[in-house]
Amino acid sequence: MKLHHHFAQLGNEFCAHTRIQPLAEQRLVEYNKTLASELGIDFSDEKVQKILSGQEPIDESLSMVYAGHQFGGFSPRLGDGRGVLLGEVKDQHGVLHDLHVKGAGQTPFSRQGDGRAVLRSSIREYLASEAMYALGIPTSRALALYDSKQAVYRERPESGALLIRTAQSHVRFGHFEYFFAHKMYDQLQELIDFTLDTYFSHHKDKPEPLKAMLIEVVQRTARMIAKWQSVGFQHGVMNTDNFSILGETIDYGPFGFMENFDDKWVCNHSDHEGRYAYYRQPGIGLWNLNCLMFAFSKHFSRDELIEVLKHYEPTLQTHYDELMMAKLGIASTSELEPMLEKLFVVLRKEHFDFTIFFRLLSQVDTDQPELLMDEVVDRKAMADWLDYYWSIRNDGRDQQAVSQQMQKVNPKFVLRNYLAHEVIEAAESGNYLPFRQLLNVLNSPFEEHEESNALAMRAPDWARHLEVSCSS
Ligand code: AMP
Ligand code: MG
Ligand code: MG
Repeated sequence: MKLHHHFAQLGNEFCAHTRIQPLAEQRLVEYNKTLASELGIDFSDEKVQKILSGQEPIDESLSMVYAGHQFGGFSPRLGDGRGVLLGEVKDQHGVLHDLHVKGAGQTPFSRQGDGRAVLRSSIREYLASEAMYALGIPTSRALALYDSKQAVYRERPESGALLIRTAQSHVRFGHFEYFFAHKMYDQLQELIDFTLDTYFSHHKDKPEPLKAMLIEVVQRTARMIAKWQSVGFQHGVMNTDNFSILGETIDYGPFGFMENFDDKWVCNHSDHEGRYAYYRQPGIGLWNLNCLMFAFSKHFSRDELIEVLKHYEPTLQTHYDELMMAKLGIASTSELEPMLEKLFVVLRKEHFDFTIFFRLLSQVDTDQPELLMDEVVDRKAMADWLDYYWSIRNDGRDQQAVSQQMQKVNPKFVLRNYLAHEVIEAAESGNYLPFRQLLNVLNSPFEEHEESNALAMRAPDWARHLEVSCSS
């Protein structure tokens, strides 16, 4: 494993030297073999394991400083309160990936926090990030999970854990906001140069590299959120410190995958105002980009920044339309909007499971609509929608091929909250088998995995009211 230290070279106005503080009786319980081999990380090498788990400290490991808009209010100084960046590693294609350890102990940015992560939230992040990756959504990845015998106190004592994750970058919107808010304009420029050199070097020769970079950030963010919407993913804490400059989904906390269709749904129990509700995510993405653009007020006029932001809506809409057309198996955009509008009325009324609906739609036949009809109370409403739907979908294409194509974009498996809950309970008592079984289907969510049909089912009654919150 060859560790690079590009971010560390920015110096101590950008970060603080921080070491991983290992947990009591820390134990490697799972690692991502495919990802490890792509990154040239050999877990059988004792030295590698020691570095990753903090047994062997390295000089350059650090925690980053940043700011962020949290639930609408500006926090001028946040930072990695429990995360340590070990450095960067190159994959086979020469692309750099951050190696980041979450739950590594207190840092200068921990404020009141204990610097730890519990096994529950680490398992949730592991599963969610790998599920998102398999769904084709840009995301941080889970490289390894360590559990421990160390108690970490949340609402109750829980087991402490370490999650080693990778992302192409941990530079967040909040990084730029931090240096701008503190009027540290030289450092802001250094950060911009670093970001351009490291991640956006393809814009370096353009007449306005920074503007080209910002447009790309806007477009990446728009595409990420379009993808979230298309799988019913809700992030839960869309604060600007949780938004990557590369449009990768990062910082999984009280996220959720929508089950019963409800666009007003709020997965984060601590989000009392529903700021980050499913239907609000596209708007919040733009709001966050607006905060980011403000940090470039010294570089561009207001009008120029507005021009950059104008790339957001059309990118998001176009991408969302493409994704939804693929999910529905229809070939023209002209009927998409009314079709979705009518469909969502039916799904909402029926409390139809978002994932199950689209999977069934990929399998249903024109002359055998029972697959869907048997799932609803108001059969007429569903039948009316299906009539309309077939009139658009049946446009002379080979319908079996369309169905097959649809099954490649409509997953059978998503990370349902109750499934996470069950595997966490088992893991807390030392049994990681359910975790591995769930991870296995989430790794290829479009396959049938008939032996694991139970993992594609709706939540049982006992699990309908499980809550997740910011505390993790
Ligand atoms: P989050 O909502 O998880 O993005 O966290 C917001 C901020 O609080 C970030 O700066 C985190 O590093 C910090 N934070 C969250 N949990 C802890 C913890 N247990 N100890 C220290 N800092 C934390
Ligand atoms: Mg965060
Ligand atoms: Mg976090």
